[in-house]
Amino acid sequence: DAKSHAPGSVRFFVARLGEQVRRRLVLERDLREAIERGQLELHFQPKVSLRDWTVTGFEALLRWNHPEHGPISPVEFIPVAEESGLILQMGEWALGQACLEAARWPDPLQVAVNISPVQVMAQNLPDAVQRALQRSGLAPHRLELEITESVFINETRGTVERLHALGRLGVQIALDDFGTGYSSLAYLRRFPFDTLKIDRAFVRELLISRDARSIVRNILALAQSLRMSTVAEGVEEPMQVSVLEAEGCDMVQGYYASRPMPARDVIEFVLNWGERHRPDRPRDFDLAN
Ligand code: C2E
Ligand code: MG
Ligand code: MG
Ligand code: MG
Repeated sequence: DAKSHAPGSVRFFVARLGEQVRRRLVLERDLREAIERGQLELHFQPKVSLRDWTVTGFEALLRWNHPEHGPISPVEFIPVAEESGLILQMGEWALGQACLEAARWPDPLQVAVNISPVQVMAQNLPDAVQRALQRSGLAPHRLELEITESVFINETRGTVERLHALGRLGVQIALDDFGTGYSSLAYLRRFPFDTLKIDRAFVRELLISRDARSIVRNILALAQSLRMSTVAEGVEEPMQVSVLEAEGCDMVQGYYASRPMPARDVIEFVLNWGERHRPDRPRDFDLAN
């Protein structure tokens, strides 16, 4: 009857739950197939220096265009890949592909690849990184690995050692989504990340909330004292750029500079970049805010 199928009823809840489980199983099956058939793609989003407004590199982001369901967000399929173990194969593909692309870019440009904590804990990540570098011929310092702080959630004695093993390959290591996790500050003392990426959540509030601005200011001070470079994520508006510049952030990434783009557009994007898009320097808005 209609009542037991109303939202909030137990039957409704069970039906919805069944739906979710089914979608997850279907996603896992289809994802496995997509990997085997080469249906995943990488898109690339630029990082821009606030010192001279040049593009310093690009972050590789996985894209999956499902044959029936259309584009599926990595926010949905990465967890499925992590829980099923598919992330190992998928991550290795992304790493290899990103390095092959970057090897064709003008020399100082870097590529950043997101690495799941599941990959960090798998013994062979340094081997996979080494292989990707060798096959592509990309110099190690042009590769950056972005790792989220959830890598420390189930921290074992091996975690920090594994990060050091990666660092010894000569690649850069960035802490992604900083500030959203658990006791973030403690992790910074455990491992010397090269770069800290300030989560989009703070950038979103930057122009609205004094608290967000003072948190960003303090994150930047902390990063500077630990000699880490800083990237602000999710920068969409020129005023955000101005405030981040005034606060001393090193780089910005976000729709303001560009949305992620297919690999074939990268080189032309860099050639056309110039200095045209730079917003006005901060002038008369309230810096003490
Ligand atoms: P992330 O590494 O923090 O990547 C940034 C996300 O923010 C990307 O979402 C990007 O498209 C989006 N973004 C960039 N600029 C803006 C902006 O100005 N405004 C807004 N609203 N969003 C912006 P995307 O591509 O959907 O990826 C989501 C997450 O999925 C990534 O977050 C990352 O954690 C994960 N992911 C993506 N590709 C990979 C991969 O190859 N391996 C792994 N392990 N994770 C990946
Ligand atoms: Mg990232
Ligand atoms: Mg991020
Ligand atoms: Mg983020």
